[in-house]
Amino acid sequence: MNEPARGSVSVVIPVHNEEANLPALLPRLFAVLDALDRPTEVICVDDGSRDRSLELLRAFVDQYPDRLRVVELSRNFGQHPAILAGFAITTGDEVVTLDADLQNPPEEIPKLLALADQGYDVVGGVREARHDTLFRRVASRLVNRVMVAITGIRMSDYGCMLRAYSRDVIDLINRCEETSTFIPALAQTFSRRPAEVSVAHAQRRGGASNYSLYRLVRLNFDLMTGFSVVPLQIFTLFGFLTASGGLLFGVYLLIRRFVLLRASEAEGVFTLFALAFVVMGVLMAGLGIVGEYVGRIYQEVRGRPRYLVRHVYGGAGGVVRLDEGAGGRGHGTGPRP
Ligand code: UDP
Ligand code: MG
Repeated sequence: MNEPARGSVSVVIPVHNEEANLPALLPRLFAVLDALDRPTEVICVDDGSRDRSLELLRAFVDQYPDRLRVVELSRNFGQHPAILAGFAITTGDEVVTLDADLQNPPEEIPKLLALADQGYDVVGGVREARHDTLFRRVASRLVNRVMVAITGIRMSDYGCMLRAYSRDVIDLINRCEETSTFIPALAQTFSRRPAEVSVAHAQRRGGASNYSLYRLVRLNFDLMTGFSVVPLQIFTLFGFLTASGGLLFGVYLLIRRFVLLRASEAEGVFTLFALAFVVMGVLMAGLGIVGEYVGRIYQEVRGRPRYLVRHVYGGAGGVVRLDEGAGGRGHGTGPRP
C-alpha cells in the first residue's frame, strides 16, 4: 500500500447512468478541491452505466490524468458496492463520499473536512430541506426511526451519502467481506468519534433516480439484517408468549373442570385450543431459536473485523502499523508480542 500523504483527501463517487450530471459535477468538484490547498484525488466508480457515463468519465481522465481515477465495474452492483470498490483504491487520509447527481453540493465538502480535521473519524451529513418527493421524505423519516430503534446505531440521516471517513475507518471497511452492506451504518459501528453536520440538499440535476420502491425496500433489508438480529428475537419472544398463554389457558381449564366443578365446555374444543397454542408457541419459539443460530452463523460468515489494535506498547516490536494490527478472521485476538 502506498504511504498516504499527510492531510490528503479522496473523494469517491458512485456513478450509474449520470451522463446528464457528470459534465457539471466534475468541474464544480475540482473547483472546490482546488480551494482546499491540500493533496486531493477523485475516484469515480462507473456502476454498469448503460448510457455514456463511462465514455464521459474516460474523457475526464484524459483531461485530469493526475487527479481523477475511474473504476469500471463489470455490471451494475448497486450504490454501496460501487462505493466499496472506490474505497479499495483510495489513498487519502480522509475519504469523502458524494452522489453524482449533484443532490449533495460539492461546496459542502469543506464543512465536513473541517470536522474531520478536528479528529472526528466519521462525519455524517444531515440533509436540511430535502428536495425529494414527499413519499421519499416521509418514508425516509419512518425508516430512520425504525433503524435507530432496531440497530441501535444513532444517526440522524441514514440516507445522506455526503460523508467523510478517516483512513482508519476506511481500512476497517475495506476488511469487511460481507456482500450486502450499508456503508454509513457500517462506518458508524467502527467509529470512535462520530460527528454530524447539516448540509444543503438540492434537486437531482438531470436524469432520474436510480432507486425504485423495490430497490429501496431491498436496501433497507440490507440495513436491518446487516446490523441487527432483533427481528429474530421478536419472533422467539412471540413464540414464548404464545406458548405461555396456551399453558395458562390449559391450567385455567383444568381448574374450571376439577376445582370449580363446571361441566366440560363444547366437548373439549377449548382444551384443544389450549393444546394447539402451546404446540404452536413451542414451534414458533423453536423456529426463532434456529433463526438465532442462523443469524449468528451469518454474522460469523460475514467476517467483520471485531477490533482494531491501535498501538502495542512495550515489547521489542514497537508500534504495530494499523493495517497489520487490525483483527480480522484468523488474525490474533490480543496484543501481539
Ligand atoms: N448509483 C449507483 N448504482 C446504482 C444506483 C445508484 O452507483 O445501482 C449512484 C447514482 O449514480 C448516484 C447515487 O448512487 O450517484 C445515488 O443514486 P440516486 O441519486 O439514484 O438515488 P436517490 O438520490 O434517488 O436516493
Ligand atoms: Mg439522488
